[in-house]
Amino acid sequence: MAVANKAPTAPTVSMDKLVSLCKRRGFVFPSSEIYGGFNGVWDYGPLGTELRANVKAAWWKDFVHSREDIVGLDSGILASPRVWEASGHLQNFTDPMVECKNCKHRFRADHIDLDKNCPVCGKKDWSDIRQFNTMFKTFVGPVEDDASVAYLRPETCQAIFVNFRLVQQAMRKKLPFGIAQIGKAFRNEITTGNFIFRLRELEQMELEYFVRPGEDERTFDEWLLRDVEWLTRLGVRREMLHLYEHPAEKRSHYSKRTVDIEYDFPFGRSELWGHANRGDFDLTQHKNASGEELEYFDDESKEHVVPYVIEPSLGVDRTMLVLLLEAFDEQPDKDGIRTVLHFHPRVAPIKVAVLPLVKKDEGLVSKARALFDELRSELTAQYDETSTVGRRYRRQDEIGTPWCVTVDGQTLEDGTVTVRDRDSMEQVRLPSAEVLPVLQRRLRQPWSRPE
Ligand code: ATP
Repeated sequence: MAVANKAPTAPTVSMDKLVSLCKRRGFVFPSSEIYGGFNGVWDYGPLGTELRANVKAAWWKDFVHSREDIVGLDSGILASPRVWEASGHLQNFTDPMVECKNCKHRFRADHIDLDKNCPVCGKKDWSDIRQFNTMFKTFVGPVEDDASVAYLRPETCQAIFVNFRLVQQAMRKKLPFGIAQIGKAFRNEITTGNFIFRLRELEQMELEYFVRPGEDERTFDEWLLRDVEWLTRLGVRREMLHLYEHPAEKRSHYSKRTVDIEYDFPFGRSELWGHANRGDFDLTQHKNASGEELEYFDDESKEHVVPYVIEPSLGVDRTMLVLLLEAFDEQPDKDGIRTVLHFHPRVAPIKVAVLPLVKKDEGLVSKARALFDELRSELTAQYDETSTVGRRYRRQDEIGTPWCVTVDGQTLEDGTVTVRDRDSMEQVRLPSAEVLPVLQRRLRQPWSRPE
């Protein structure tokens, strides 16, 4: 690939600091905290919910709505267990597990150094490595027996293969074309951790792009480049991203080629966005297991073909973590430290805050409320009238609001307001009627992260 890797770049913030900001400002909360917590699950607070929705909307807009060749799907989390048998998940969706025989802690064998002592108890008494299937089991219906076992999907893509023919026919799609899906997936990870990086309940944005056999390798490279670009357009520094080509022995059972886009997390370089060339593995497996024709009739060659598929698979939660890490900034100023989240305005949870200079002035407040009502009919907006304007700016900086609009005495005279930019901290005066169209225009423009 033509994408060059550079030396790792220092993360700008520690995980502890980020986790604490996320909790304090309502982005991410530990699950079930009042009951002592629940491993591998986090709850998204009001601002995390907005950020998350914006990340998914940006992906959907750029990879589905902006393209004529990609359509969407929203399938069930539960499905016939035969899906997982045919896909190979029952057999192969495993991670290598090792146990410390002294303290009974379990670890992913490929994540620790077995030549060293147990990181928990300090002894060295490892069990043999065994394969642990990470699919969650449940029972469907009122009887809990072998016949009612079902699985929570561990990835969203299998339903795309199962529905391949229905989607293709309903939408009259011709190769090459893609099917995209965003949704929850569940993995009983042996160990969780690093905040929202490794979860047991996660969400994925997956795309299966079907091509004629022989076009797969070129298409794979195109997706990899496109996806790196997508991340950089959202404000992720290019030098924080790296491509990792999986050696053949590390690839999943279905993959002809796997390349991860990795990111330099504060805890080390790790996978953000997996890319796999799944060949015709999945469609062939489902075709054989179900006995249904899952082929595609190629008008050009007048032949039936089983398409090859390229899969870019991105975690919503990992993307949020990367965007939070990339956005975080601390700048010393006259009052101490100014904490800012430099989100791309597209993903910022709140786009604009309306701040009346004084809260006791009725004329001012009613102007400010009217502007707030107008803005929030189109954009996520907050109204804040408590404490000094400086404090209010800081509160908005800390949650990454790109613009603050201040309504002051001059507004009553000439109808203008001040718009302050989060990144440059510049303030410009505008007629209040122009604020909404100006911000809407700014939202559509390219944005780059301030250096
Ligand atoms: P890892 O090697 O980190 O376990 P994986 O190779 O099993 O990941 P994939 O099956 O390729 O991951 O999943 C596609 C994407 O889904 C990943 O790139 C990641 O963004 C996300 N993802 C996978 N597992 C998790 C998880 N446990 N928590 C959060 N996101 C995840």
